[in-house]
Amino acid sequence: MLGECHGHIFMDGRNYRQAAALYKNGICTEDLRAKLKAYHDAGVQFFRDGGDPYGASLAARRIAPEYGIDYRTPAFAIHRKGLYGGIVGRAFETVADFRALVQEAAEQKADFIKIMVSGIMDFNFYGKLSCPPLDRETIFEIIHIAHGEGFAVMAHANGEAVRDALEAGADSIEHGNYLPESCAQLFAQTGAFFCPTFSAVANLIPDSRFPREVTARIHSEHQAFVMQCARQGVRLVCGSDAGAYLVPHAQGIQDEAGYFAQLGISNVSLAQNESLLAVRFCRGGV
Ligand SMILES: [Zn+2]
Repeated sequence: MLGECHGHIFMDGRNYRQAAALYKNGICTEDLRAKLKAYHDAGVQFFRDGGDPYGASLAARRIAPEYGIDYRTPAFAIHRKGLYGGIVGRAFETVADFRALVQEAAEQKADFIKIMVSGIMDFNFYGKLSCPPLDRETIFEIIHIAHGEGFAVMAHANGEAVRDALEAGADSIEHGNYLPESCAQLFAQTGAFFCPTFSAVANLIPDSRFPREVTARIHSEHQAFVMQCARQGVRLVCGSDAGAYLVPHAQGIQDEAGYFAQLGISNVSLAQNESLLAVRFCRGGV
């Protein structure tokens, strides 16, 4: 069984506000246990969390071994104040702040650092992201700092900023929507992992919350890009963004593997890449 290479354990796949309310005043161990049990029952043995501001993923990592799960967490994701990322982590204003957050993540024994390079997609308007990306210089600076502390870097990025993140040495790119096919070659050259999180978009297509022509178009263009990546030998991994709207825990992996299967990409190659990712996304790993 494949692992979940991108999930948010505190989210519930339905209502972000409700999920956040459950953790705002302390960890809900019962909720964590129910989700970890669902993963265990589905045969899942690996989980890479995308971060949260409440310490939920750190708590999940402490109890995950009881469920036979190798759980990795960045503790919290790091975003620039005023840009996207507050729902999954903490903010920095200056490079010195970023350095302090990396230090804090190290004290909490984070397995890697998660950074927010760009916004999320606005599913009401094709081509629109929720905010501007980090500038190239900052992307280079913060990835360099995280690497200097022995951390791999998981980068949430869509659009042109993906190029900057790849050139700066990001170890994995998450989502990666709105990319020209030419970007696949750069992906392959850097050896970065790519977690396209199809489910976070494709599961929205039948839903009435967003215009179908927007979600369906984003998904089909993403499929074409990922196919190009597969041809170039990019290290694709299976992560569904479990916990995001309409991406239920445990079911997300099945959905994601199904979207890969539609492109002819097998679980075998995804599992191989997952093993490599597990080695890289471990502080002190390679
Ligand atoms: Zn995520």
